[in-house]
Amino acid sequence: MIETVVKKEHDIIVVGGGIGGVCAAVAAARQGASVLLIEKSINLGGLATRGLISWYEPLCDGEGHQMIGGMGEELIKLAVASGLDDLPSAWGGEEKYGAPTRKRYSTHFSPTFFSLALDRWVLDAGVELVLDSHATYPEMEENLCRGIIVEDAGGRSFYPARMVIDATGDATVAYRAGVPCVLGENFLSYWVHDFTYGTAQKYVDDHNLAKFRRWNCTGSAANGTGHPAGMKTFHGDSAEEITEFILTGKDLIRKKYEGMERDEREIMTLPEMPQFRTIRHIVGKVTFEGTEDGVVCDESIGATGDFRCAGTHYTIPYGTLYHPDYPNILAAGRIISAVGEGWEITRVIPVCALTGEAAGVAAAMALAYENNADRVPYANLRTRLEENGVLFSIDGV
Ligand SMILES: Cc1cc2nc3c(=O)[nH]c(=O)nc-3n(C[C@H](O)[C@H](O)[C@H](O)COP(=O)(O)OP(=O)(O)OC[C@H]3O[C@@H](n4cnc5c(N)ncnc54)[C@H](O)[C@@H]3O)c2cc1C
Repeated sequence: MIETVVKKEHDIIVVGGGIGGVCAAVAAARQGASVLLIEKSINLGGLATRGLISWYEPLCDGEGHQMIGGMGEELIKLAVASGLDDLPSAWGGEEKYGAPTRKRYSTHFSPTFFSLALDRWVLDAGVELVLDSHATYPEMEENLCRGIIVEDAGGRSFYPARMVIDATGDATVAYRAGVPCVLGENFLSYWVHDFTYGTAQKYVDDHNLAKFRRWNCTGSAANGTGHPAGMKTFHGDSAEEITEFILTGKDLIRKKYEGMERDEREIMTLPEMPQFRTIRHIVGKVTFEGTEDGVVCDESIGATGDFRCAGTHYTIPYGTLYHPDYPNILAAGRIISAVGEGWEITRVIPVCALTGEAAGVAAAMALAYENNADRVPYANLRTRLEENGVLFSIDGV
């Protein structure tokens, strides 16, 4: 028998320290809950930092209206303050690199400095953090989660909690708890950060560090090289698939450097997690389909635009964050209940911040309602989110 050490209880456990998870943890701690954040790697930020996805999609609708406030805005400012880019002047930036190159409220950021900044941001909010700790299984009593089993360098532990937020990016906790889930599908993507003699020259000429670093990517349909002909798509839910996804991507990226002089290029960083856009998402009380352009939903947790096109406006339903049969488990980030266009709209960094913040506030409020997310009075949730600067209005934009 493997011994399981029982650790101290927390009001709320957040599993996964990506953008959804850090926002959920900080939001819950700011509501006064005791919060433990469990992260299986040693750096916070998830895909946004360890996955090298260092482009913060816009907080605005592309027509001059801000759609996302709250932690989505707090984090973009943190990213800029600790990073290598600026915001457009229309959104409070200084345009220190000369003529504005873009209009939208978005930015490039440094994954390394952003990750360093996230540590402080989380700890300053009073969140307890355990790194290099792999949450393996939720401990279930009927449909209630009593805590999380964790494997770490010391062995196996059980961390009790009253509410649990799954921010794993693949819904590990919710799926293993029995929450209905749906698998996603991915084209091959393998992105690295590099620099070349040419980008170094641009950096010197323009004194702009953002021009030094370059994305070099392969596989993804989005980067023009296309998914390799005949290659299957990937779900990303088994070691075999993840290994094939990574090794194929590495082979293709190696080929892209063949023929370049070795003293004229360097790869700065390889991704430290597989760049799957979607692995698994929960089926919630409500599913956001992205067909609701311009419609204010009844119980929304905030507004957003669509990063891919200007002039579109959505509100995201609270019911996307949980399944009512599993009332003390909430989802945050890219695993919320969203499909099709709704998934595209909600999977990006600012919207993961929005859903993370809402999950954190809702979990903290649920403590007063028998740890039941479905019993949280919506009007009170909305008031608290508004107090945090979350934006709801899509009227008049
Ligand atoms: C190729 C690609 C390009 C993209 N481009 C952009 C872009 O340009 N701009 C943009 O805004 N968004 C982009 N995105 C989307 C965006 O990066 C992600 O959807 C978002 O960052 C996801 O955040 P998250 O917190 O939901 O999940 P993740 O970032 O996946 O975080 C999950 C965290 O949970 C941890 N974890 C997982 N399982 C466990 C466990 N069992 N125990 C403990 N910890 C665990 C992981 O280590 C990770 O830190 C892109 C995504 C991809 C793949």
